[in-house]
Amino acid sequence: CGIVGYIGLNQAQKVLIDGLSKLEYRGYDSAGIAVLDKDNAIKVKKRKGRLKNLEDELEKEALAGTVGIGHTRWATHGEPSDINSHPHCSIDNRIAVVHNGIIENYIELKEELIKKGHLFVSDTDTEVIAHLLNSLYTGDMVETLRLAIDKIKGSYALGILCSEEPDRMIAVRKDSPLIVGLGEGENYIASDIPAILKYTRKVYLLDNDEIAILTRDSVTVLDESGREAGKQVFNVDWDP
Ligand code: GLU
Repeated sequence: CGIVGYIGLNQAQKVLIDGLSKLEYRGYDSAGIAVLDKDNAIKVKKRKGRLKNLEDELEKEALAGTVGIGHTRWATHGEPSDINSHPHCSIDNRIAVVHNGIIENYIELKEELIKKGHLFVSDTDTEVIAHLLNSLYTGDMVETLRLAIDKIKGSYALGILCSEEPDRMIAVRKDSPLIVGLGEGENYIASDIPAILKYTRKVYLLDNDEIAILTRDSVTVLDESGREAGKQVFNVDWDP
């Protein structure tokens, strides 16, 4: 029920866990993170239960890297379990996705993808997004996401990493909340402002169907038609 993402020069893991802890009030049954390592490989740790369970895992083996996405899950499709926790990845591990919301037509999409040879490991609706993006992948995740959105019905806030585009993070929302935090040499996504308030007070409030493209030094927000949305910076002047 919460999303956090970080791209910058610092270790992502710390920012993600800190952000997820600020989103605990939203309720959740599992938590996980994905980080791009120095070889641009996607590394994932996820655990059923309290955020503490994930933190204990990360204590044994930290995920090093400066780009990452994190998630707290409130299960809607598939019981709370380690495997059903997010992030979900394509089978080749090229793409990692965190998702809040519900994909209404996931059964149809899953059947189509299975026919094409995709292997599913979880019972979630979310996993279809990772496989769908992988099957549609053009070499440009923004273009690919636009193709995927045309096929997906339901509600979603998504954070996406792609090992072939290691210097950016892509996000989109429809009927589930998502904001972008603007830093210096680092940028963020989050379900809600408290998750990133420690790091920045400048945010973009994403509207439905807007796609955000984050690099370390820039944030571009596109509207539904693919044009720059011309977002206004919102200055947060309150404390949690
Ligand atoms: N529908 C997804 C799942 O059950 C996402 C749930 C959420 O918003 O946390 O895994």
